[in-house]
Amino acid sequence: MKYDIIIIGGGPAGLSFARSLADTSLKLAIIEKSDEKTLSHPPYDGREIALTHLSYKLMNDLGMWQQIPDDQHSLIKNAKVLDGNSPYSLDFDYHETSRDNLGFMVSNNVIRKSAYDAMKGQNNVTVLADTEVEKVGTDAAMGWVELKNGKRLEAQLIVAADSRFSATRRQMGISTSMLDFGRTCIVCTMSCEKSHEETARECFHYDRTLAILPITGNNISVVITLQSEQTDNVLAMSKADFARDIQRRTENQLGKLELTSELFTYPLVATFARKFHSNRFAVIGDAAVGMHPVTAHGFNLGLQGANLLAVEIKKAISKGDDFSAEAVLSHYTSQHQRTAAPIYHGTNALVRLYTTTTGPAKFARRALLHLGNIIKPARGLIMDQLTDIKSVEQA
Ligand SMILES: Cc1cc2nc3c(=O)[nH]c(=O)nc-3n(C[C@H](O)[C@H](O)[C@H](O)COP(=O)(O)OP(=O)(O)OC[C@H]3O[C@@H](n4cnc5c(N)ncnc54)[C@H](O)[C@@H]3O)c2cc1C
Repeated sequence: MKYDIIIIGGGPAGLSFARSLADTSLKLAIIEKSDEKTLSHPPYDGREIALTHLSYKLMNDLGMWQQIPDDQHSLIKNAKVLDGNSPYSLDFDYHETSRDNLGFMVSNNVIRKSAYDAMKGQNNVTVLADTEVEKVGTDAAMGWVELKNGKRLEAQLIVAADSRFSATRRQMGISTSMLDFGRTCIVCTMSCEKSHEETARECFHYDRTLAILPITGNNISVVITLQSEQTDNVLAMSKADFARDIQRRTENQLGKLELTSELFTYPLVATFARKFHSNRFAVIGDAAVGMHPVTAHGFNLGLQGANLLAVEIKKAISKGDDFSAEAVLSHYTSQHQRTAAPIYHGTNALVRLYTTTTGPAKFARRALLHLGNIIKPARGLIMDQLTDIKSVEQA
């Protein structure tokens, strides 16, 4: 079977990329190893995704946001960054921006469902669920995938959106820098007695980091990162002990807390592909850049990258050029790397600083928080990044 583009992976990046090409006559196939039921009703996975204003706009343009019921998204209006036991915080307030909030919160499974629902009526897409890609290859004339069920499919371009541990990226010879933090992220949701006041809190304690994100109702998403060897102790805690522990670590600011979901774990490994394409092949989403979640950029970058690749493909088509040509794909790589590299390296540097417990590091952390509050442009830059919507062309 011959397609114009084969997309490997029906996660949020793969689905939103397919959606970006809805107004073209390109024949697309999405190959996803999960079954149809999981694609159409993705189970809750503990991830609550903080979205920037740019992502909100892109999701609106793709018809994804319209699929999300009103009671399944919420706002972040303020943010506080705290260091150790110090009461001092670096504060971000939406009043200092031109928007009425700093960002949006939506569960990852709701985003996945919104992308699937937006795409499912699209008549240029074939979804092959319950189907796994085993091998990928390309030559001068075409690209191809071999499936676990023995079939072979061909396309002019193969786009891999098959996660940060992308096997197809490796098969295509794209080397990737990987940073294993030796830490694990535990996420869950909790209900709280007092109002979360739409405020995100990031507390850098000395043995772990704790993020409290405001979500729908008076609920919070709790994101703990800690040394992997300490994970089992936390997972072994009773629900009541876990709730008491988080209540103590948040200094009772949110009143009595109750665990309302199971605890989900994610290994903390950041990845950055050296280039985002090779012959007739491109990587998007986490397969291009797999971020540490502390700065909440993973899907935001994934959506931008998918949009960027779609823009380049449409430009080529409108000029009558080959949309899978090296020039088109290398333009995508250079533009997306320019956006993603500073965010990726900046996040990793921040993580290193805030997980190092030596005296100088502690001093630097405190100094950074104080400077952040004093030097307005620093805070302004971060808030612009959350609220700016002009940074990309529209697909
Ligand atoms: C704890 C946590 C919190 C996060 N918080 C935020 C946040 O606040 N803001 C933010 O922007 N991002 C956040 N992220 C990042 C975000 O979740 C990811 O960037 C995003 O889900 C990646 O989407 P993706 O489609 O690239 O990959 P994935 O979601 O990993 O999807 C890949 C898909 O490919 C399929 N697949 C893989 N291999 C094959 C194959 N061989 N054949 C067929 N199918 C295949 C898989 O089944 C899967 O469906 C967070 C991540 C974590 C872990």
